[in-house]
Amino acid sequence: MSKVVKFGGSSLASAEQFKKVGNIIRADKERVHVVPSAPGKRYKEDTKVTDMLYACYALADKGEDFSKALADIKARYQEIIDGLGLSLSLDSEFEVIEANFKAKAGSDYAASRGEFLNGIIMANYLGYDFIDAATVIFFDENGNFDQAKTDKVLGAELKKHTHTVVPGFYGSLPDGKVKTFSRGGSDITGSIVARAAKVNVYENWTDVSGFLIVDPRIIDDPEGIEVITYTELRELSYMGATVLHEDAIFPVRQEGIPINIKNTNAPEDAGTWIVESTCQKSKYIITGIAGKKGFCSINIEKDKMNSEIGFGRKVLQAFEENGISFEHVPSGIDTMTVFVHQDEFLHKEQNVVAAIHRLANPDKIDIEADLALIAVVGRGMKSTRGTAARLFSALAHANINIKMIDQGSSELNIILGVENKDFETAIKAIYDIFVLTRL
Ligand code: ASP
Repeated sequence: MSKVVKFGGSSLASAEQFKKVGNIIRADKERVHVVPSAPGKRYKEDTKVTDMLYACYALADKGEDFSKALADIKARYQEIIDGLGLSLSLDSEFEVIEANFKAKAGSDYAASRGEFLNGIIMANYLGYDFIDAATVIFFDENGNFDQAKTDKVLGAELKKHTHTVVPGFYGSLPDGKVKTFSRGGSDITGSIVARAAKVNVYENWTDVSGFLIVDPRIIDDPEGIEVITYTELRELSYMGATVLHEDAIFPVRQEGIPINIKNTNAPEDAGTWIVESTCQKSKYIITGIAGKKGFCSINIEKDKMNSEIGFGRKVLQAFEENGISFEHVPSGIDTMTVFVHQDEFLHKEQNVVAAIHRLANPDKIDIEADLALIAVVGRGMKSTRGTAARLFSALAHANINIKMIDQGSSELNIILGVENKDFETAIKAIYDIFVLTRL
């Protein structure tokens, strides 16, 4: 039995935090593969090393003097090395980095040095073997993650070591250039390593004790989620729950490896388990609520739309031609509504409208802005009657006008569209009815 443990930036922001991480790893001999992020913020106004690297490289790219910016980054690592009492020196690494910055190695390369250097420190501190992610994690020529090649090379490499540190966030392209995942991507690396090493658990250590039922910026001190399925989580993270990178579930999900979100600052907390399937009922009918503001709806009307084959395709083609992805498409008999992100849509609005007219010849198009979408997610909804009724009466009591309702046939979620201004009130009303009054 073995585990992959990934530690986020705040868990590795200082020597103090590194020591907590060391204690956690040493407390369980199954914790054999470690995936570190770059040092994050030590305090609220602090800057993450990744952001320092982007800023430093931007200077290098413009041909400006970046020596002070690079020295500041080096100082962050030196503080950790000294605080841990290690005799490690990163001088030669920083010489290479400086030369590569001068040679304009790219901002991905620059950003990746955050985890690369932290990985070297972590390996030295733990006495584990360091594996450079660029040699074992691959992207294809289009920049997409290459699962097959990675599984093969990384799987074979991990077999050669009992204990490893694989830095998060990056890999390499076929030409050997470093490429990073999107921000927060060390979560994905952890999942990739867990899959390749075929471990039993992927522990993802962060600075909160797992997922909360709802965003704590909206509800004070909400309850945590003990167990959530991959599918539920997918719905919630797509809608804005941010504890884990939304792509991190895919590699482990295919292998049925559970993810346990844990808190470095409160290791005794159980955290959240993310699993493929469970017979464990969630405490409430709903597992979580998440949402986002800033959507626009384009309402398209045409008489007898229901009998016109290909109408929907033509409408969506107008969005495709303008490079806009749609979020939801609820439809009626003679109407179809397309929800899109307002900021993406705004500057292409009239092009899209013209394209819909040209392609689908509708009777009328109406646009409404400043909408929010709220997802109410829960595996328990399937087997409980009246969930929708309770939800809607709670919103009616809170005086909220529901603009859109979308329930997938999986009955795993109900998506609601409301006006941006009603967003917080709606979420509070939903939390009240399902969690506080435990209905
Ligand atoms: N260090 C990277 C970031 O700040 C990746 C990560 O922490 O997962 O986005």
